Amino acid sequence: MRTFAFARANSVARAVEHRQAELVSAFVAGGTTLLDLVKLDVMRPSRVIDITPLPLTTVERLPDDRLRIGALVTNTDLAYHPDVLADHPLLSQAILAGASTQVRNMATTGGNLMQRTRCPYFRDAAAACNKREPGSGCDALDGVNRMHAVLGASSECVAVHPSDMCVALAAIGATLTLHGPNGEREIDVADFHRLPGTTPHLEHDLDDELIVAVTLAPPLMPLGTAYVKLRDRASFEFALASAGAMLSLDEDLIGEARLALGGVATKPWRCREAEALLAGKRADTAAFEAAADLALADARPLTHNAFKIPLARQAIVRALRDAARRAREDDA
Ligand SMILES: Cc1cc2nc3c(=O)[nH]c(=O)nc-3n(C[C@H](O)[C@H](O)[C@H](O)COP(=O)(O)OP(=O)(O)OC[C@H]3O[C@@H](n4cnc5c(N)ncnc54)[C@H](O)[C@@H]3O)c2cc1C
Repeated sequence: MRTFAFARANSVARAVEHRQAELVSAFVAGGTTLLDLVKLDVMRPSRVIDITPLPLTTVERLPDDRLRIGALVTNTDLAYHPDVLADHPLLSQAILAGASTQVRNMATTGGNLMQRTRCPYFRDAAAACNKREPGSGCDALDGVNRMHAVLGASSECVAVHPSDMCVALAAIGATLTLHGPNGEREIDVADFHRLPGTTPHLEHDLDDELIVAVTLAPPLMPLGTAYVKLRDRASFEFALASAGAMLSLDEDLIGEARLALGGVATKPWRCREAEALLAGKRADTAAFEAAADLALADARPLTHNAFKIPLARQAIVRALRDAARRAREDDA
């Protein structure tokens, strides 16, 4: 393992100063992504900045009923927080579908947003990977690509974004607060993760900034939510395809629909056209199947992952059906 300098930040401003002081530096929160990748020689920070002393560990209800989640709230604390369970059960369902209790106890909200792909070629320092080493090529294109993306890919990168939590945040439409050298700014989560295009090494819209909080607007009412995650084994496994759905119902007509996908795309994938198709429709299987077909209309398989398209279709239809059932129960 390479050596690196270590600093502990006692304020947000100081964390950002440490970050700027070195060309290749990294914050560390729970360490569940960073330490693995340093040991694999995939990430090579010359300075690591411990941000765990920062006061970013609470979930607050704001006067306008939005929820503000500190970047250091652990995935466990977030999933079981009473305000999150009451307002945004989709977030809780998605987090609890991921990793293991031990990992969730360490993993933080900011770290989850920033986690790296699980593409085996990215994680193998001997393989060609444009994300890890710009211009080196992509071994996944002609390699074993069963786990890779069918949406949002480019000729430079087909790696999937692995997060479950981010699928829920995409469906909910979260706002991130970032603190950088020029102060604070807000960004919609949909604009935070980038498509790979010709620059797959640039994964986020982040400029020497620290994520300090995630804010969630009040929920749709009456609200039904469901997160369906399909994977090779029932627990402790990343998604082959997942769908997060939120529906508000008026009698049996859909008021507002939200849909996002995981495991199939290069970033958390919000399906806005499918959402528009669902609005005002009867909440039945025909509408859910039509929405699934539209959500996947642009899907392009690689050599080994064509199965992901019907799998994602199943996940979407099941998530929408379960969300509609829960919305009816919520209204009863
Ligand atoms: C065995 C295993 C199984 C897993 N399974 C799943 C799964 O099924 N589903 C799933 O969604 N996830 C899964 N994960 C991923 C896990 O959720 C992430 O590793 C975790 O959320 C990262 O959070 P962390 O606090 O540990 O981040 P760290 O490892 O501390 O940091 C990760 C990255 O984020 C940056 N960072 C951290 N905090 C901030 C911040 N506030 N602002 C800016 N940058 C920041 C760091 O610099 C680093 O680059 C799994 C992980 C492991 C190890």
